[in-house]
Amino acid sequence: MKLVCRSFVVLLSVFVLFGPAFAESSISPELPPGLQIPDAARPGPQFDVDAATQAYIDLLSPEQKAKSDAYFEGGYWLQLWGLLYGLVVAWILLRSGLSTGMRNLARRVSHRPWLYTMIYALQWVVVGTLLALPLTIYTGFYREHAYGLATQGFGEWSLDQLKGLLVSLVIVPPVIALIYAAVRKTAERWWIWATCGAFVLILFMMMLAPVFLDPIFNDYKPLRQGEVREEILSMARANMIPDDNVVEFDASRQTTRISANVAGFLGTTRVAMNDNLLDRTSAPEIYAVLGHEMGHYVLNHGLRLIIYMSLVLGFGFWIVHRYFDRALARWGSKFGLEGRDDPAALPLALAILSLFFFFATPLTNTIIRQAEAEADAYGLNSANEPHGFAMVAMRLSTYRKIKPGPLEEIFFYDHPSGYARVHRSMLWLKENQDNPTASQPNPQ
Ligand SMILES: [Zn+2]
Repeated sequence: MKLVCRSFVVLLSVFVLFGPAFAESSISPELPPGLQIPDAARPGPQFDVDAATQAYIDLLSPEQKAKSDAYFEGGYWLQLWGLLYGLVVAWILLRSGLSTGMRNLARRVSHRPWLYTMIYALQWVVVGTLLALPLTIYTGFYREHAYGLATQGFGEWSLDQLKGLLVSLVIVPPVIALIYAAVRKTAERWWIWATCGAFVLILFMMMLAPVFLDPIFNDYKPLRQGEVREEILSMARANMIPDDNVVEFDASRQTTRISANVAGFLGTTRVAMNDNLLDRTSAPEIYAVLGHEMGHYVLNHGLRLIIYMSLVLGFGFWIVHRYFDRALARWGSKFGLEGRDDPAALPLALAILSLFFFFATPLTNTIIRQAEAEADAYGLNSANEPHGFAMVAMRLSTYRKIKPGPLEEIFFYDHPSGYARVHRSMLWLKENQDNPTASQPNPQ
């Protein structure tokens, strides 16, 4: 216990020392409002896809580009630090006896395995959240403010974190108890049953999220009145999406990022557009984003991604199965762990799983990026707004590096890069030069 306290104090003081040094930078990452169609991207007999793309990329000043690159590339390192930090937390939990202590306490309440596993998991969520707090504050609060991406004060932000913790306390313990039930009942084959269980649970969570989870953090409501609303709902109906399934939400409460998403499953599926998108971008950009989201909806990407990700998770569980027993044989008695089905060994199992997911990042990113590229193609064909899509892709440079190298994109991008998206839009435009917004004048 002493060790935990000492480590926590060290981590907190690192945060206190380095945290406040990040003053908000004065360079605005934002591009001016409205379409900024460069001359080289205007249709005509000389239209050149690469030159048009480069003209868009050049809308960013060197300072804006440097800031965007720094934010996104810093994220690569954060993935590594996040892994190392998690491994240290796991080591602290095991080495200090805190993990076995939590299991013993849980057994004092009940000797039923499912119940003491749940009680262990409850404690693990709280202690794990506390130990991760310095990193969470740095990545989720300080860093976001340093790059001008966050809008919440520390109090409001903390309240959202607290809500997140309460949600985890409801969801995580039953999930862990189920996985341990598979470990107890099916021995060597636990990883197969745990994968099947996880697949069903994720689908169930996906169905409930828009109804029970998302409204905890944001206000979802019907689209605001106006011309844009009529056009959006018309596009939705034309793509076989019921028009009451398109909503807006107040993301500006937390962030300055522009985004939209598709969430839900079966009856709860809906397209949600954030208020930053609706407030700060032009109509062609909004339609282009909606076209992309409709692509996710119509191509049923939610279900497909969950199937693919469950297969990756299954592989991860198999890796855990292979190395967990060996790790237990080596360190089990030293840490007071009783075996595979002892919840006190959870940090050890999760350390192996997080190593697996770290190395699987290029694979998981590529699975998602491929679906995103499909939605991009769908969006261009349905919204017919190549300049809207190119412009909004440029705006996402506030949080995504605009032009990575090919390997960098495979390893680190879960969406196509801004460059790839502008290029794709210009390719589409080359083949559709009679497009109406292509020759529209820029706003003054
Ligand atoms: Zn998408």
